[in-house]
Amino acid sequence: MSDYFILLSAGKSKRFKSKLKKQFIIYKNKPLFEHSLQTAIKSKFFKEILIVTNEKIKTTIYKNVKIIKGGKERYDSTKNALNYLKNKKVNNVYIHDAARPNLSIKLLKRLKNKLKTNTAVVPYLNSENSVKYKVINKIKNLNRDNVLLTQTPQCFKFKELFNLYKTNNLKITDEASLYLNNNKKVKFILGEKNNFKITTINDLKNLNSKNYYGIGFDIHRLIKNKKLYLGGVKIPFHSGLRGHSDGDVILHAIIDGLLGAMRKGDIGTLFPSNSNKFKNIRSKNMLAPVVKLLKDNNFDINNIDINLICENPKVSKIRNKVIKSISSLLSINKGLINLKGKTVEKLGIIGKEQAIACEVICSLSR
Ligand code: ZN
Repeated sequence: MSDYFILLSAGKSKRFKSKLKKQFIIYKNKPLFEHSLQTAIKSKFFKEILIVTNEKIKTTIYKNVKIIKGGKERYDSTKNALNYLKNKKVNNVYIHDAARPNLSIKLLKRLKNKLKTNTAVVPYLNSENSVKYKVINKIKNLNRDNVLLTQTPQCFKFKELFNLYKTNNLKITDEASLYLNNNKKVKFILGEKNNFKITTINDLKNLNSKNYYGIGFDIHRLIKNKKLYLGGVKIPFHSGLRGHSDGDVILHAIIDGLLGAMRKGDIGTLFPSNSNKFKNIRSKNMLAPVVKLLKDNNFDINNIDINLICENPKVSKIRNKVIKSISSLLSINKGLINLKGKTVEKLGIIGKEQAIACEVICSLSR
């Protein structure tokens, strides 16, 4: 007796306004349906995986995958797959929508476990929204604590499910409805929020973000009688950095890195050094309009990696406060920022503590 996984991939994508069927749209570099297919294979729980579809798809790269012709509605598609299984020695079937690409092995494990003592197991989420429902012309409130939003995979003892399908004449949108219509017990277990369904092309647009990278470099000469600022914080030191502004090499390199990733020129474009308007400006005030540009153009920072090149001050002594400052200036988590120290074996003007340089790489997503 074996378990089988049915991957429903024949939907007509009525709510998905695209020429390409939803299941074949590329999500994270592969067609939507392949995500759950690979998870099901990886779990090693299934003797065979049935992909129900009306499209020609290449599955020769996968072992134990069978293509089943899709039906008119989801219901008909499931029926086709169950009919294929009727003469096999099937214990359980897991029925999953290809439009839920983030199926996890963890959820499969929990479902499998509950199937040992139940004949039907279905994952659900509670509603985060308030729920109303319509009776004739009246809108009524529904206590959202009593609302169960069902997910897939929905898992069943094959025999019982097959028999229910055989005698059913009602239109159903999932197998859980079939069980409830027939007063059969369903064990509902908490699903996973990440196991969401992609229903519209906008869902996908929101999910398919692209990454961009920018590089920044800066160097300033050290001079006496000036305060040293690095990453927006004052650092006790014998000299400060000469410059039109406070000479903060870290923030200047970050600004160039961010502008580079956004493809918006460089720091000189934003702050011409021949303009008196920006004389003695604090560099954190130069960063603020760049942060606004990020926001206005819907960019998110993935991470920032910084090399501070100097003999002194020692990076290990200032790391925590510099990272804390940058994280607050950019409103990002400290964990996204890395600061490394690099000495130059006392070579050149940096080695003689006459200058400090900095290089940065920024990764953004949109
Ligand atoms: Zn600079």
